[in-house]
Amino acid sequence: MRVGVLALQGAFREHILVLEALASSTVAVRLPVQLEGLDGLVIPGGESTAIAKLMRTYGFYEAIRDACAQGMAVWGTCAGAILMAREIGDARPDQEPLGLMDIVVQRNAYGRQVDSFEAPLHFAHIGEPFPGVFIRAPYIERVGEGVEILARHDGRIVAAHGGRMLATTFHPELTGDPRVHRYFIERVIAAQ
Ligand code: GLN
Repeated sequence: MRVGVLALQGAFREHILVLEALASSTVAVRLPVQLEGLDGLVIPGGESTAIAKLMRTYGFYEAIRDACAQGMAVWGTCAGAILMAREIGDARPDQEPLGLMDIVVQRNAYGRQVDSFEAPLHFAHIGEPFPGVFIRAPYIERVGEGVEILARHDGRIVAAHGGRMLATTFHPELTGDPRVHRYFIERVIAAQ
């Protein structure tokens, strides 16, 4: 299995470390050509405006959409969840979502940086509470048909899975707990 992590900006190194321990081959994706042959791609957290700008500069919009049309799975964390959405609640003009998953996401939904927090989450299918690390997190306002809600915090949707698409508004790569990474590999990529 080959899993890539979009390595333009944000917390990509942390994802790579967890995935390397779980997957057979992990690639830091810096150019669209590196998407070839990937079974799954992680779009990390960071600053969605910065990632969007770099994605446009390097031609990632078309390349990621094409790779998904050929079966590549995608997991977006935080800024990545914003970018994979069908619609961004308060999108800036330079922020076009990839439209890979039928979800509507609200940016900076909990206020400013200072409002970042940790909370234990009940995450479907993975057992015990999962440590949710929220950093200027968005939340998922709506999910379309066929998208399963995996976790909520205070009633708001913070994790969802539909087909080959997984979105979490928090940062599992910062916890030392690999269960959501394993979920992506076993239940999103391998299940197809
Ligand atoms: N607030 C950031 C954004 O809108 C996301 C923060 C994160 O990825 N931790 O891009």
